[in-house]
Amino acid sequence: MDLAIKHSRIRDFEAKCRSEGIRLTVQRRAILEAVLDLDDHPTADRVYETLVARAPGISRTTVYRTLETLVRMGVISKASHPSSVVRYDPRLEKHHHLVCLRCDSVVDISDAFFDALPVPDTEVQGFEVLDARVQLRGICRRCREREEEMPSGSGST
Ligand SMILES: [Zn+2]
Ligand SMILES: [Zn+2]
Repeated sequence: MDLAIKHSRIRDFEAKCRSEGIRLTVQRRAILEAVLDLDDHPTADRVYETLVARAPGISRTTVYRTLETLVRMGVISKASHPSSVVRYDPRLEKHHHLVCLRCDSVVDISDAFFDALPVPDTEVQGFEVLDARVQLRGICRRCREREEEMPSGSGST
């Protein structure tokens, strides 16, 4: 993420902490920074691993709890990924995801057509739609290249 954007996001977070009476701790700030730095929709565990080096003594539980707090505050979002663990997303603006079924990578795409997709009526279900995002599932370039390199029929013994 661009450094200027990152700094403005951290300032927004600090302002939100003040206005919502949430204690602004060094650890919370470091956790947000880690999500902003990781450009691959990290899991909570990956955020934790990144932080162990930067903020020694931080606990996994703190990371898990803080990520949920940041989502509730609207500072980051969840890139939900059914059938897998929660992934956190530093991008708040509307966008869509390419999800690799092999390596679980999540890549952002912007698409005006997807943005404008009409949302089905969910009144019968009593469901209020707050956001609609498109998830395209498939095989990423890296995984496809890896599979092409392998001689065909290998591993079938
Ligand atoms: Zn992949
Ligand atoms: Zn995303």
